[in-house]
Amino acid sequence: MKTAEVVKAWGRILRGQSPSLSIEITRECPLRCPGCYAYGDDHLGGGATLRSLSDYKGQALVEGVLELVDRMRPLHLSIVGGDPLVRYRELEQMMPLLLQRGIHVQVVTSAFRPMAPEWARMERLNVVVSIDGLRAEHDVRRAPATYDRILKNISGQRITVHSTVTGQMMKRPGYLREFLEFWTPREEIRKVWFSLFTPQKGEVLPEILGPEERERAIADMLVLRKEFPKLDMPEGLIRQFARPPHSPRECVFALTTKTVSADLKTKITPCQFGGNPDCDSCGCIASMGLAAVAAHKLGGVIPVGAIFRGSIRIGNAWAGNPPVAPDSAAAESPLRILQG
Ligand code: SF4
Ligand code: SF4
Repeated sequence: MKTAEVVKAWGRILRGQSPSLSIEITRECPLRCPGCYAYGDDHLGGGATLRSLSDYKGQALVEGVLELVDRMRPLHLSIVGGDPLVRYRELEQMMPLLLQRGIHVQVVTSAFRPMAPEWARMERLNVVVSIDGLRAEHDVRRAPATYDRILKNISGQRITVHSTVTGQMMKRPGYLREFLEFWTPREEIRKVWFSLFTPQKGEVLPEILGPEERERAIADMLVLRKEFPKLDMPEGLIRQFARPPHSPRECVFALTTKTVSADLKTKITPCQFGGNPDCDSCGCIASMGLAAVAAHKLGGVIPVGAIFRGSIRIGNAWAGNPPVAPDSAAAESPLRILQG
C-alpha cells in the first residue's frame, strides 16, 4: 500500500467512513462448492439467506451499485457474489464507470465464463480467480469451473489466482509447491495468493486445518515465497496466520470494510464471512495483510493498529455511528494514542 493511500484511508476512517467496500452483486452462482460460506444459513445473520434475497439485474443493478459507491465513497471495492460473472453484461457496463471514480476494483470469480478482453488492460482492476487445489481436487469441488474451463476463460487476461488451503490439501506434503509449479509459469497469472480455510464457530469440516497442518502451511509458504516471486505474500503477512485477530473488534480488516449483500441493503457482519466466524482460526489473506500493517510500529513504538482502532472510534463518534466496543489491545484513549 502506498503512503498516499494509507493517508487517504486514514482520512476516511477519521470521518467515520470505511475505506473498503465489498458488494455481493448477485445471489446466483453456477457452482456448489463444499464449505461455501456465502450460502450458509447464518451468512446474513439468520432468517434471510443469500438465495432468498431479491437481487438486481440490468440497468437497475448498474445504477444501484454506482449509487452505493457514490454514497459510501470507498477507496477499494470488491465485487463478489454468488459469482459476479453471472451478471457479466452489467459488470462490463459498470467497470469503466467505477474506475473513472479513481477507486481500485477487485472482481472475485470462479472464471466459469470468459471476461471482457479489455479488462486485461484496465488499470486499478484486479480479477481474482478462485482455484482451490490441484486439478483432481479442484475439478470435483468447483465444477463446472474446472481447470480446462478456467485455462480457456483466462486466456489473454492478467489475473490473480486465489487458493483457499484446506485440511485435505495439507495431508499431502508438497501440495502447495505443485500448485505453484502448475500456475506460476503461465503468462496470464500476475500473482498468487493463499488463504487458509476459515470455519464458523463450532463447525466440524474436513476443510478445517488442524494446528499442525496450519503450522506446516505457514512454514511452506515462508519457503515458497522465496522460490516463486509470483507468490505475492510478504513474510510479515504469512506470519500473521499464526496469530489471527481473536475477535472482529481486533480485526482491522473487519473494522475498515463494509460488506453489502445482493439486495444492495443488507449488511453482512462482522466481516465478509458473515454469521459467527471463528476468528481464532481465521485464514483470510486480507485480514492477515491488514493485521501485518497493524502490527507495524511507527517509530518502533506505537503499533499502527492502535492508531487505526483509535481513529475508528473517533470517526464513529464524529459521524454519529454506534461505537465499536474497545478491546484490550486498544483500551487506551484514542486521543492519547494519536498524541503519541
Ligand atoms: S463459487 Fe463462491 S459463491 Fe459460488 S458456490 Fe463456490 S464458494 Fe460459493
Ligand atoms: S476476517 Fe477473520 S479475523 Fe476478521 S472478523 Fe472475519 S473471521 Fe474474524
